[in-house]
Amino acid sequence: MNFLHHLECTACGATYSADEIHTVCPACGKVLYARYDLDRARGEFSRATLAKRPATMWRYHELMPVRDEANIVTLGEGMTPLLPMPGVGRRLGLTHVLCKEEGLNPTGSFKARGLSAAISKAKELGVTTIAMPSAGNAASAAAAYCARAHLELYLVMPVDAPHANKAECAAYGAHTYLIHGLITDAGQVLRKAGARRGWFDMSTLREPYRAEGKKTLGYELAEQLDWTLPDVIIYPTGGGTGIVGMWKAFAEMEALGWIGSKRPRMVVVQAAGCAPMVRAYREGKEQAEPWRDAQTIAAGLRVPQAIGDYLILRAVRESGGTAYSVTDESILGDMQELAREDGLFACPEGAATYGALKAMVRDGLVRKDERVVLFNTGAGLKYVDLIRPELPEFKPAEPPAALSA
Ligand SMILES: *Cc1c(COP(=O)(O)O)cnc(C)c1O
Ligand SMILES: [Zn+2]
Repeated sequence: MNFLHHLECTACGATYSADEIHTVCPACGKVLYARYDLDRARGEFSRATLAKRPATMWRYHELMPVRDEANIVTLGEGMTPLLPMPGVGRRLGLTHVLCKEEGLNPTGSFKARGLSAAISKAKELGVTTIAMPSAGNAASAAAAYCARAHLELYLVMPVDAPHANKAECAAYGAHTYLIHGLITDAGQVLRKAGARRGWFDMSTLREPYRAEGKKTLGYELAEQLDWTLPDVIIYPTGGGTGIVGMWKAFAEMEALGWIGSKRPRMVVVQAAGCAPMVRAYREGKEQAEPWRDAQTIAAGLRVPQAIGDYLILRAVRESGGTAYSVTDESILGDMQELAREDGLFACPEGAATYGALKAMVRDGLVRKDERVVLFNTGAGLKYVDLIRPELPEFKPAEPPAALSA
């Protein structure tokens, strides 16, 4: 059973078949969303049936875009832990800080969700060659799932993307190229080359299904919190698939009768060296100007322009949320603090959510007993090149004082 119904443009409302290949809206160039027959699903699919299912994001497959389960390309992504963070909670005087630990996904980041969904659907639609620009983690995930699906993949990522991402892409056998530029430059090159060669463009929100994978973050949060939602969600925003995906999931779950109308305050966090959404939010704009000279160690946040800007800004405003930027320096400090306080080796993007929470506490925007969810979107292990520990060395016969007999 699957309730996928059609595609709908988020800007002009035009509708299209979900059984043919689409990227952006042919009429206006904006983002397409997958729509489901939620009225029927409400009668035929109850949340109680989930309890016995495997702990992956495909437990929600009726509300995912793949019609035939045989087409699902999975490596066990999703259903990651929602960890209490008592250490950082104590530091900030908050009683309910939680962290969705997405670093435990295949390829070490939550990009696995989006790419598992999109590559499964591409396979179902008969796509054979995929092209994707990436800041790093999306490339790794696409490479893994394309390998598993035996699809051909062309990747372009910035030359200074994290080493782990380059190593993974090479290991999985993707056609991988490094550009002296940013993800937006990579996208332009690939779109030109791909148009001539018939490659399917899997850029963030330029096809409808990566967001469907990311929306499972929203379903999981609700399921893990016994069908309630947290008060605040702090999300490290690059292209914004996760935040708009969760926002979509909340609306779907309400239509299904699984949750009520209360929504979390959606908080965007970006890096001070690349914060187009924060700037647009603060200036009251509905779309974001491209950010010039984007620079940050948080590779996933180095996205100077997002096609889904209007969707991100809408979710933040409708939810009564807010937007913050944090410096690379504070990100590095917060990576250490999360590791020491709660044993979580976060990626820089994940540490940024902690920095934003500190700013919210400082600005009086979160109450002591509110449930706050931070997103650690990737494993710190993917970014070990950022950390240069100075550790004492010694010869066996000359142990330092702390180790001497
Ligand atoms: C891609 C990425 C982000 C940004 O995610 P979007 O949903 O594109 O905004 C955040 N953190 C990490 C680790 C990423 O790889
Ligand atoms: Zn349109």
